[in-house]
Amino acid sequence: MPELPEVETIKNELLPHVVGRQVTDANLCWEGIVRKPSPEEFCSRLIGERITGLSRRGKYLIFRLSSGEALIIHLKMTGSLLLNHASDTPGRFIRAVLHLDNDCQLRFRDPRKFGVMWLVEDTSSVMAKLGPEPLEENFTAEVMAERLAKRKAPIKPILLDQNFIAGIGNMYADEALYDASIHPLRPAASLSQEETVKLHHAIQQVLGAAIGNKGASVANYFRPGGELGKAHFEFRVAHGLGGKFCQRCGTPIGRIGVRNRGTYFCPKCQVLDKPTE
Ligand SMILES: [Zn+2]
Repeated sequence: MPELPEVETIKNELLPHVVGRQVTDANLCWEGIVRKPSPEEFCSRLIGERITGLSRRGKYLIFRLSSGEALIIHLKMTGSLLLNHASDTPGRFIRAVLHLDNDCQLRFRDPRKFGVMWLVEDTSSVMAKLGPEPLEENFTAEVMAERLAKRKAPIKPILLDQNFIAGIGNMYADEALYDASIHPLRPAASLSQEETVKLHHAIQQVLGAAIGNKGASVANYFRPGGELGKAHFEFRVAHGLGGKFCQRCGTPIGRIGVRNRGTYFCPKCQVLDKPTE
């Protein structure tokens, strides 16, 4: 949390307000939020820069700067980027503030303090190993099948592995596996061709729908204007928010721990051992 749809929403909604703007000041209320370079250098190199572009890769936001450097932000568990007017009351949990030349401030709100910022010349120093973007055209069912075929691990942690596929977290992995009727503990390499095609379609469908709903406001996710997303109202299993029973078959939704992540699924629609035919 936030995952691809939340970060994509933040990017889309910030873009018209920040691109072309100059950073006039930078304040860190908590220096631990800067991973690289030193907090002092981070602020001094940022001040005076113009933001020339804003994009998303996986769960990362990338602000391109006139110097050629990039400000990379990862919101981790509880981060939000709020766009406030300079005169707005400072809210709680604000860890960093970027002042822009349009009297706006970009405020990094992060109750749990897991969020991270980098200022780098080469974005690959942070994001080199990221897997393919699930919504891009070149990420086909065939590409996914090839990558899954080599993996013996259960499918759920593979979907969460950012080096396998970028942007999916606990919520959308559970939703996609439910959609495709695949048990979260199925060994990845055991998926049939038909199941892989269904899972590929399900991933694109759940992520696309969640972007349409401006993300899921489950834990501390706010859109830049402070509004909430609505994607969680359409969850069937994730976070136990879909109700107590499967919407397809009425079976009580199950919850198991998969590598320490609470995992919700339908024990009847998503069976672990397929009967041999
Ligand atoms: Zn079911």
